[in-house]
Amino acid sequence: MSKTVVIGAGFGGLALAIRLQASGVPVLLLEQRDKPGGRAYVYQDEGFTFDAGPTVITDPSAIEALFTLAGKRMADYVDLLPVTPFYRLCWETGEVFDYDNHQERLEAQIRRFNPEDVEGYRRFHAYSRAVFEEGYLKLGAVPFLSFRDMLRAGPKLAQLQAWRSVYGMVSKFIKNEQLRQAFSFHTLLVGGNPFAPSSIYSLIHALEREWGVWFARGGTGALVEGLVRLFQDLGGTLELNAQVTRLEVDGSRIKAVELEDGRRIETLAVASNADVVHTYEKWLGHHPVGAARTRSLKRKRMSNSLFVLYFGLNHHHSQLAHHTVCFGPRYKELIEDIFTKETLAEDFSLYLHAPCVTDPSLAPPGCGSYYVLAPVPHLGTANLDWTVEGPRLRDRIFAYLEQHYMPGLREQLVTQRMFTPFDFRDQLGAHLGSAFSVEPILQQSAWFRPHNRDSHIPNLYLVGAGTHPGAGIPGVIGSAKATAGLMLEALL
Ligand SMILES: Cc1cc2nc3c(=O)[nH]c(=O)nc-3n(C[C@H](O)[C@H](O)[C@H](O)COP(=O)(O)OP(=O)(O)OC[C@H]3O[C@@H](n4cnc5c(N)ncnc54)[C@H](O)[C@@H]3O)c2cc1C
Repeated sequence: MSKTVVIGAGFGGLALAIRLQASGVPVLLLEQRDKPGGRAYVYQDEGFTFDAGPTVITDPSAIEALFTLAGKRMADYVDLLPVTPFYRLCWETGEVFDYDNHQERLEAQIRRFNPEDVEGYRRFHAYSRAVFEEGYLKLGAVPFLSFRDMLRAGPKLAQLQAWRSVYGMVSKFIKNEQLRQAFSFHTLLVGGNPFAPSSIYSLIHALEREWGVWFARGGTGALVEGLVRLFQDLGGTLELNAQVTRLEVDGSRIKAVELEDGRRIETLAVASNADVVHTYEKWLGHHPVGAARTRSLKRKRMSNSLFVLYFGLNHHHSQLAHHTVCFGPRYKELIEDIFTKETLAEDFSLYLHAPCVTDPSLAPPGCGSYYVLAPVPHLGTANLDWTVEGPRLRDRIFAYLEQHYMPGLREQLVTQRMFTPFDFRDQLGAHLGSAFSVEPILQQSAWFRPHNRDSHIPNLYLVGAGTHPGAGIPGVIGSAKATAGLMLEALL
C-alpha cells in the first residue's frame, strides 16, 4: 500500500506524522539531513551539546496532546523542566527585569520602572488574554481555506484592533519605554517586527503566562528524540539523508515523490514541512500551479534571518539566567534596520542561551554550553557576504558579551561554531535565508498565509512555519493539527 509522505522532520512535520500515524494512516517521513528536528537540530562538539534553534518551550499542552492522542504518557518520553525566570531582560543602562508569571513579583518589578504602569500592565494582560483566546485557542489550529473563514474571523479581529502593531498596542497601556520593549519584543521570537501590524502576536504574552516556559531535560533535541520515538512506536517510518528533489504530478494530483538518490515513491498524499517557496519552486516548478505559486510567494515579505553563535566554555557562568535578552542601545531604529536596511547595523540586541543553568549535563563538569543570536536582515534585504560578515560579527559579539555579561569569555573558549543566513538558505532550503519563513504580518496571516492544503492540487498539503498559523513550536504544532484534520478527512 502506498504510504502518505511527509517531507521534513521539523516540529511541524513530526507532529503531523504522529497525528496521521496515530489515526491509522501509515506515514513515511523523509528528512534530508542526518538528524531530525529541522531548526531544532543538535550539535555535539567536544563534549558540549548545543541546541541549534528553539530553546523556549511554551504551551506544553500542545506537545502533550500528541502523546495523549497516541495513547501514551509524555513523561515516558520526555521530561519537561520549568524555567524561572522566563527571561532576564537587560539594558545597557544597567536595568534588569526578571520576567515570569508570578503576578506580585512581576508587578513589583514594573513598579520599579514606573508605578503608573502597574495598572496599565494589568489592562495589557487582559487584552493579550482576549487575543490569546481568539487567535490561539479558537483559531490557532483551524485551516483558513476560504475567504469566508477570514470574513467570519474579521469582526473579532477588528474589535481586537488587529491592524495595530504589538508595540503600538503595548504603548496604549504602558508608558515606560523599557517596559514597552519588555512586552513587545516577543514578536521577534516568531520572526515578526513589533512595529508592523498585527497586534495579534501580543497573544504570546498570555500564552507564556498561561502555561509557563519549559526546557526539556537533555535539551530541545531530547524533545525531538521523544517525538521521533513516539512516531516509530506507532509504526511510522523515518528516513534520514533522504532529500526530495521533485514531485511528480498527474493532472492535478501528486503521484510520486522523487529523491536525490534516484528513488521514486508513489504516494496518496504529500505534506511538505520544507520551506514553502522551496516546495513550489524546486519540486513543482515544472507544473503551472508550482510556477504560479512561486511567483506569488516571492512577492510576499519574508521574516528576518538570524546570526547564531554556539560556544562551549571551560567555565560555568552561574551569574546568568537560562534565557537573557540583552537589549542594545537602540530598539525601534535597530528593528527598522533589520527589516529594511541593506547593510548590517553597527549595534545589536542579543538573545543569550545558557542551558546549563537548568541542565548541567549539556556540558562537561564545571563547563558551560551557550548560544547567542542576533536578528539580522535576510538576504533579500541585505545581500551580504556572510563568509566575511560572519567572523566579524562573531568577534564583535564575543567582545560585547565579555564586557557586559561574561567576563573572561574569550580565554575560556573551548569550542565555537556559527550559523549564518547562508546556512539557513543552504542547509535548510530557506528562501532568502529567512529564519521563520513568511513574515507574520496581518496581510500574510490566516487566509492570507499559504494554505494548509493547496487549492489546486488537492493531495498536496503544507505544514510548518510557512503555513497557518505560523512559526514557533506552538505555531507549527498547531499547523500540524490543522493539516492533519484536512488529510484525515480526505484519506480515511
Ligand atoms: C535560532 C532559532 C531559535 C528559535 N527559538 C525558538 C524558541 O525558543 N521557541 C519557539 O517556539 N520557536 C523558536 N524558533 C522558531 C522555531 O524553531 C521554528 O518556527 C520551528 O521549529 C519550525 O518548524 P517547522 O516545522 O516549520 O520545520 P523546520 O524546523 O524548518 O524543518 C523543516 C525540515 O524540512 C527538511 N527539508 C527541507 N527540504 C527538504 C527536502 N528537499 N527533502 C527532505 N527534507 C527537507 C529540513 O531539513 C528540515 O529538517 C527558533 C528558530 C530559530 C531559527
